[in-house]
Amino acid sequence: MKKLICVLLIVVAMTSLLAGCIGAFKCDGCGEDKFGIMHKEEVMGEEFTFCDDCHKELEELKDMLG
Ligand SMILES: [Zn+2]
Repeated sequence: MKKLICVLLIVVAMTSLLAGCIGAFKCDGCGEDKFGIMHKEEVMGEEFTFCDDCHKELEELKDMLG
């Protein structure tokens, strides 16, 4: 059981490194205070911070726009 928790922690740490940072932040997409994975995106020369949900929506939008 301890081994499983250890593996899970490593996976979470690696995912957070790949996706961005984990912490408390205000999402520019929905305007809510969030705690979790932070995604930084540059939109028209300005940097925005998005929560996981908004980031997914943004990616879908980007796909739609091509
Ligand atoms: Zn959001």
